[in-house]
Amino acid sequence: DRASAATAPITDGALADGTAVPLLANLGKPEGAAEAVALGAEGVGLFRTEFLFLSANQAPTVEQQRESYTQLLAAFPGKKVVVRVLDAGADKPLAFLNDAHEENPALGLRGIRALRASEDILREQLTALAQADAATAADLWVMAPMVATVEETTYFTALARDYGIKTAGVMVEVPSSALLADRVLKHADFASIGTNDLTQYTLAADRLLGSVAGFQDPWHPAVLRLIREVGAAGRALGKPVGICGEAAADPLLAVVLVGLGATSLSMAPTALADVRATLLQHTLDDARVIAEAALSADDAAGARSAAQAAAAHEN
Ligand code: PEP
Ligand code: MG
Repeated sequence: DRASAATAPITDGALADGTAVPLLANLGKPEGAAEAVALGAEGVGLFRTEFLFLSANQAPTVEQQRESYTQLLAAFPGKKVVVRVLDAGADKPLAFLNDAHEENPALGLRGIRALRASEDILREQLTALAQADAATAADLWVMAPMVATVEETTYFTALARDYGIKTAGVMVEVPSSALLADRVLKHADFASIGTNDLTQYTLAADRLLGSVAGFQDPWHPAVLRLIREVGAAGRALGKPVGICGEAAADPLLAVVLVGLGATSLSMAPTALADVRATLLQHTLDDARVIAEAALSADDAAGARSAAQAAAAHEN
């Protein structure tokens, strides 16, 4: 429980059988790094770069970006830091990049689509990231948001490598790339599943719209089945599959995600302690059994209670 998790020693994320599950931080600004380290983050699984762009009416310069990325990477020497290139559009609109008149912005020119349409911004971001990488000792991974096709995957990873980025991957947050994960992962060094958008697009329910908020539940077995596809592809190809959506911060769902093949979990730093404590209560075999129970449910509530029953049985 929360009280005992808060006082438990900070160890690296692991299951009861010793299987390592690195626990990483989601960060929105480099200033959050110190707190993440204090709470035991083993690195960063999602660094959202939107903050650099959101308050501006034009893109920040390469120098401004290099300074921010260097500040972030310097806080994690020897550790993995996954930076996401700009995810503009839909819930994160940018006046100078997005068309405010799209009728369905979540289905519009967002994420990697918007960056391709303004490729200078992407090239500058990769330039600044490569410079920050050269100046620091972190293990920099860079990924693209909203990748829906194999072609977008090859476009992004090839471009990132041109700029000297050694580890280039994609976010899986659109059902098409989850279903084609075996093809997508052939061209990417890793995948990171964004469960917030993956849930939105799987259930066809706007994540910002209160009237359909009930659909925004990553326990939904349709979402879990898509995640299983990505986990299986990662295992077959020997490529890491992280989770960086809110789902990873739900301790029992974190166990399910590991059972589905996730190899690392990234979350708000304040969620790390509870997830760390819960993972330690289950082996990998348990996690697979618990995941199997959730996958066979009819709906999100059913998946949650099936997982709870399976977890109680395993203990
Ligand atoms: C997600 O979609 O799950 C995700 C991590 O990205 P964001 O919430 O920034 O869209
Ligand atoms: Mg997203």
